[in-house]
Parts: sequence; C-alpha cells; structure tokens
Amino acid sequence: MRKKSSQSALSYGGCGLLTKLGVLGMVPLIGWHLTLAAQKESRSPTPKEEVKTMLAKVKWFGHATVKLSGSKIIYFDPYQITHKDQADIILITHEHYDHLSPRDLEKVQSQQTIIVVPSGTKNLPRGQVRTIKPGDRTVIEGVEIQAVPAYNTNKAYHPKAAGYVGYVVKLDGITYYHAGDTDLIPEMKNIYPDVAFLPVGGTYTMTAAEAAHATADIRPKVAVPIHWGAIVGSRQDAENFKKLATCEVQILTKVE
Ligand SMILES: [Zn+2]
Ligand SMILES: [Zn+2]
Repeated sequence: MRKKSSQSALSYGGCGLLTKLGVLGMVPLIGWHLTLAAQKESRSPTPKEEVKTMLAKVKWFGHATVKLSGSKIIYFDPYQITHKDQADIILITHEHYDHLSPRDLEKVQSQQTIIVVPSGTKNLPRGQVRTIKPGDRTVIEGVEIQAVPAYNTNKAYHPKAAGYVGYVVKLDGITYYHAGDTDLIPEMKNIYPDVAFLPVGGTYTMTAAEAAHATADIRPKVAVPIHWGAIVGSRQDAENFKKLATCEVQILTKVE
C-alpha cells in the first residue's frame, strides 16, 4: 500500500477536475508536471471497462456481506445467507451479530475454510480460526491480507479500543478494502485500494455524506456502498453516496 502525500490544490478537485482534462495519459501535451502531480494526488476517472473487470468477481449479498470469487473464494461478514458455498477464507470485521453470525458462517464454510476474526472476539466461531489485530499483515492461501482499524469517532458502538477491523485484501492483482463498521478515520489516508466497500447507512457507521467524504481520502478506483438495505440504511443513502463521492461508485444489486 503506497503512502499518499498530504492534500494539494489538486486533491480536492478529485475526479471532477480530471474528467474535464480527459485521460491524462493520452494527452501528454497538457504538461507532464501537472500529469505527475495529478497521478500522485488524485486518480484519473476509472474507465467503465476497468470498473466492470474489477467488479466481475464481486457479489454483494446485502448488508456488509461481500464475496470475492477469484483464485480463492473469500467472504466478508456472511450474514442472512440463503445459499450453500465453500469459502477458502472468511474475514470477520467484528463480533456484532450482523457481522459474526455462526449460523451463516456454517453455510459457507468447509473443514478447510480459514476464518479470521479480531483478536478480542469473545465467542470464537467453530472451525479453523485465526485472530488478527489492526495493523497486522498476513498471507493466507497465497492471499495478502492486512487488518486495518475500524472505529467510531462520533458515536460509541465501535470504540477504537475494541480492536475491530476492516480488511485490505490483494486477490489476483486487485486490491479490495472492506471497511467494516467505521466512521471516517485518519488511517484511511494510508489505504489505496482499487475497490472500496464502504458503509453508508449511518447510525452505527458513516452516513452517506461522511462515506462520500472518505472517498477523497481513500481514492479507490471504484467504491461500492454497503451496510444499507437491512437493519439500517436505505437505497436513498446509497444514491446519495453515489452523488457525493469523489470517485466512481457502483451500487450493486443484492444477490438473493
Ligand atoms: Zn457493528
Ligand atoms: Zn454493522
């Protein structure tokens, strides 16, 4: 994960400014000083084809449940699962019932499945469980996985001291960030994923507007709103996020 320098005049222009300039790589005469600065500070708009490719292996099962199907099958926070599957790796962001659900885990795990949970988790699920702390990096089944902090800054549901996490996963050359239940936190500036799954439902996590603000710090190639449509958050929250975000946003259709 590259570390980004602090913001410049260009960083808040975000995707909007770059859209006006066109694809920078194809217009070298604009001046490469600007091009270099722009590449460092902000990403050019992601071509539609690239967005399609990056999301081709992604399924959203509602709420915070995301599946990546690449060389490995990876689930984040399986909840309200109505199908059977055999995950290679299951990543749990924290112990709340809508993220760590033993009944739903059983539907997508096999004896070989490795389940990763934050180290403070009180009721460990059954199976091959490994624990992780914010900041830890590991490689499981050849997949690079980093746990990053996830916590509230203006509410008390997810205190920083609890050690809840989000995950940055590199699978088949694409970097995915699942933020977990979090507010906008300074650590997001050090995450530079291709795809970001961000909670937008409010109450327990960022609101749509706060998540949109976070995209200016995270700068993913594409962001996907999660944590809406069940318990908290509405379609309108997902739409507002899309309207306000400074990057490409795809609202995924829930897979039943
Ligand atoms: Zn939670
Ligand atoms: Zn939650």
